[in-house]
Amino acid sequence: MRMQILDGKLASQAIKDELKLEVAQLAAHGHPVPHLVAILVGDDGASETYVSSKVKACSEVGFKSTLIRLEADISSFKLLDIIRELNIDPEVDGILVQLPLPHHISADEVINSIEPSKDVDGFHPINVGKMVIGQPTFIPATPYGIMLLLQHYKIETKGKHAVVIGRSHIVGRPMSILLSGSGNPGNSTVTICHSHTKDLEQICKSADIIVAALGRPGFVKADMVKEGVAIIDVGITRIPDNLKKSGYRLEGDVDFKNVAPKCSFITPVPGGVGPMTIAALLKNTYKACVEKHFE
Ligand code: NAP
Repeated sequence: MRMQILDGKLASQAIKDELKLEVAQLAAHGHPVPHLVAILVGDDGASETYVSSKVKACSEVGFKSTLIRLEADISSFKLLDIIRELNIDPEVDGILVQLPLPHHISADEVINSIEPSKDVDGFHPINVGKMVIGQPTFIPATPYGIMLLLQHYKIETKGKHAVVIGRSHIVGRPMSILLSGSGNPGNSTVTICHSHTKDLEQICKSADIIVAALGRPGFVKADMVKEGVAIIDVGITRIPDNLKKSGYRLEGDVDFKNVAPKCSFITPVPGGVGPMTIAALLKNTYKACVEKHFE
């Protein structure tokens, strides 16, 4: 059996190329281009990297972007005030607040304060609710990116047993909802696993598709999967590594070296889900802009 790498860099580039053309058309007709505002609170290294990639991707496709950097000790009141202003600013299409936030700020309160039509991360309860009942909305970027990747590589999901490991609001839970939905990709029979799941190995062995989103490097081992499985590795963990210029390397939740030979498809880490997450965020921001100006 031939194993194929699901190349997130390649698939995301195709999406970015398409967006670039669409944005150029907007600009050529004198319309405003999409404008994303990202808020970064504090100086967490990983968050800094993620936000920089998002801002860079905006400029690659011709979007406007603004990065608002705030001190880690900013009050919740002040942050909510900034979001209120962005909510009513007609020049802002999408707002994202990079998570995690410092402990003194409630992420729920912040998410709930974002105007749903500008919530390009798709975390607001209104958007989550729409996603659950299958109405058009902003789908959280990582699961949306995975759906786009499955679509790009024409991976059959209908009637398959998909196992999602992890039930977070940003990855596992929405992923399970999307794969069990009636769209395409979708129509899978989904098992969602978490830290209290019994017989996780047996469940994984019966999976045609595994989405690993738990944040435990190398957790999915070769003896936990069947031949021909398609694996999406969402995990990104920084492992200290003196041989790297950055001082760390990234590892996924799958023991790639030993698992890949058994797979029909597998995403690498890095270069799999990460770039797709960014492409999905760009698509959400484009949608926010177009819906505001033309619908
Ligand atoms: P999270 O909020 O920490 O959730 C982890 C989930 O995994 C929880 O539901 C947890 O179960 C479950 N879990 C933990 N240990 C487990 C075990 N031994 N067996 C079964 N389930 C277990 O993490 P997250 O935000 O979803 O992120 C997951 C990973 O994806 C992280 O490595 C993160 O960095 C990465 N990520 C990548 C991208 C990307 O763009 N590539 C985007 C987002 C996240 P409980 O609910 O029972 O605690």
